[in-house]
Amino acid sequence: MNDSTDALRRDVATANRILERLGLSHAFGHASARIPGTNTFLLPTRRSPGLAEADALLTIDTEGRIVEGDGEPNSEFWIHARLYAARTDVGGVVHAHPPACVCLTQAGEPHRVLHNQGAIFAEGVPEYGRIGLIRSRELGDLLAKVVGQGPAAMMRGHGITTAYGDLRTATVAALYLEESAALQLRMLAAVGGDASRLRVFPPEECGALRDQITGSVAKRAWEYFAAVAEATPLGGGQHL
Ligand SMILES: [Zn+2]
Repeated sequence: MNDSTDALRRDVATANRILERLGLSHAFGHASARIPGTNTFLLPTRRSPGLAEADALLTIDTEGRIVEGDGEPNSEFWIHARLYAARTDVGGVVHAHPPACVCLTQAGEPHRVLHNQGAIFAEGVPEYGRIGLIRSRELGDLLAKVVGQGPAAMMRGHGITTAYGDLRTATVAALYLEESAALQLRMLAAVGGDASRLRVFPPEECGALRDQITGSVAKRAWEYFAAVAEATPLGGGQHL
């Protein structure tokens, strides 16, 4: 194994721990990274993301075959497999069950851009409306179709999936999306549930906020979230 794969394995473990430590998932949820230049990706075995270890990852291909590693994959591995199959530009995929995003879907409210970090989703976050888990190739393809060429999808009563060029960015974006949804819920409550009173950012003004998910801003966000995950014990984050 070379150094770059080692570094990628560490990132996969860290990303998964972030999901659990920062309250986006508890027993469920998973983050993966494509092994660059291949149709394979690294995914933890079937356990909480909070328990992910760099040396206990599976290598799976886009057809859902385990090509390396011991153990059973998380049952929704098709989310990752079919997104990597559909999007050669995607190097990192995050799937989590963050509570505010789940609430937003069940309140029937689309994601709206209401704060700076939310502006990275200015093109809208499409909804996968089918209830239940993504446990087949067909459902993985359906979800990938909903994500399309975008960075994320909301999954009704279930959670979210983000897809970016690299896993660090996909992880930071997942955190931004949950923060955005949580703020949206608070704002809706503050205005008596009347969405027309929310001061949504004009799409044409969101372009200037693209830097929230690129370069030094994204790097700083990852550094912080990784440090929090490192410093927080299992189950010690904010949870339901
Ligand atoms: Zn799920």
